[in-house]
Amino acid sequence: MEDCLFCKIAAGQIPSNKLYEDDRLLAFYDIDPQAPVHFLVIPKQHIASAAALTEADADLLGHVFATIASLCAKLGCDGGYRVVTNVGEDGGQSVPHLHFHVLAKRSLAWPPG
Ligand code: 5GP
Ligand code: ZN
Repeated sequence: MEDCLFCKIAAGQIPSNKLYEDDRLLAFYDIDPQAPVHFLVIPKQHIASAAALTEADADLLGHVFATIASLCAKLGCDGGYRVVTNVGEDGGQSVPHLHFHVLAKRSLAWPPG
């Protein structure tokens, strides 16, 4: 999608600190990390947010979470981690392309602000 920051990152038009890439998704470190480990996982196809997901995306979502588990194991996130996807204005979404934040290597508070 034109003028979408994460589509441009997925296409390599804007550089990112890549952690993992395959035909369906890209994982890269967040530019403004909120934990010692903070990366984002995005589908390469443009999906505006989790609110736009359908049953047809089940395989993609399984792949996203399996990839997150594998990356967290590789990074040694033995104490656990948090996966967050913000949706819309009240959810705190600032980039309108579906992304999963993965935060680890510090104790994370609950509930979030
Ligand atoms: P949101 O606020 O939509 O849930 O999350 C967007 C995230 O994207 C934020 O954590 C922000 O720091 C990150 N971000 C915004 N622009 C860039 C960028 O150009 N490169 C990278 N690596 N992260 C970005
Ligand atoms: Zn996009």
